[in-house]
Amino acid sequence: MVSRNTSRQKPGGISPVGRGNSPRWLELHRSGELASRAERASGLAGDCRLCPRACHAARFRPGTHGLCGAVSPAEALVAASIPHFGEEPPVSGSRGSGTVFFGGCSLRCIFCQNHQISRLEDGCKIVRCDARELAGLFLELQRAGCHNLNLVTATPYLPSILEALGLAAADGFSLPIVYNSGGYESEETLELLESVVDIYLPDMKFGCPEQARLLCEAPEYVAVNRRAVAEMYRQAGLLELDSEGIATGGLIVRHLVLPSGLAATREVLEFIASRLSAEVHLSLMAQYYPAFRARELPGLGRPVSRREYREAELWLEEFGFTNGWVQQLEAEAHYRPDFSRGDPFSS
Ligand code: SF4
Repeated sequence: MVSRNTSRQKPGGISPVGRGNSPRWLELHRSGELASRAERASGLAGDCRLCPRACHAARFRPGTHGLCGAVSPAEALVAASIPHFGEEPPVSGSRGSGTVFFGGCSLRCIFCQNHQISRLEDGCKIVRCDARELAGLFLELQRAGCHNLNLVTATPYLPSILEALGLAAADGFSLPIVYNSGGYESEETLELLESVVDIYLPDMKFGCPEQARLLCEAPEYVAVNRRAVAEMYRQAGLLELDSEGIATGGLIVRHLVLPSGLAATREVLEFIASRLSAEVHLSLMAQYYPAFRARELPGLGRPVSRREYREAELWLEEFGFTNGWVQQLEAEAHYRPDFSRGDPFSS
């Protein structure tokens, strides 16, 4: 994501600070609850049902990996760990969002723009990290001045991430946690994340089960995603910003407009406005380009047209959205991460 205009963010859209100075997960660490969540996550990973695929991989057995590519619950596959300046303005701020990109993914999107890491392709440097090493990465991002820790596609690695947070906290780590996911999360996993995550940053990719089946091999995505995002909203509420406009908690929903109406954008927006709130911060994204195997499906082989994107913007108005960002249509020409480089977003 290279640019967004903020013209939809009305002056009154900034919520008051309500969470104090330290993130809630530190309380869980102090009480011992964080360690017990790590154990529960590890229990789910043994016969893995950390995500809604529930592929039941026996991940403690050496050499076994899940449908998402995850291996032992004691290790996370890390593709990159960088201060990232391309997220939504309250997430990136001026010093960057401390972003850890994990390898593997339980969704199988045919158009995945991060396919190098989601499919664990040869040529990108994926590093196996245990909890101690992960904690080291978290601390490095804090030392770099990042505003938050941004965990991208983290669910398969929750056991080691939760343990790593505890280890890092013992060494002074105290950043708010951003949970950046495809929005495909199970109820059990979201229970583990309650009060651990400060800012939820899920996708709502599709509004139609048939399209979800065709495009990411998950016809249940729409129902699962709606339940998950509703739960994230219950846990975190509307976005809250500090006096400098940096996110301290809450929900931001991302929606990538696809060509040929394949994301069912209108249904997604209608759901958010009618079942959650039209005050939810919505990030409408235009950065689609036909990556990975997208050209195999009719309608996906081109960027979104100006007319299609305008239509989506009109739906935002129709449903009364008041907060968020509309990415500029030209973004598709700039958002081309390359995970074979140290910083996938450097040019
Ligand atoms: S997180 Fe990965 S290993 Fe676990 S259930 Fe989902 S796809 Fe399977």
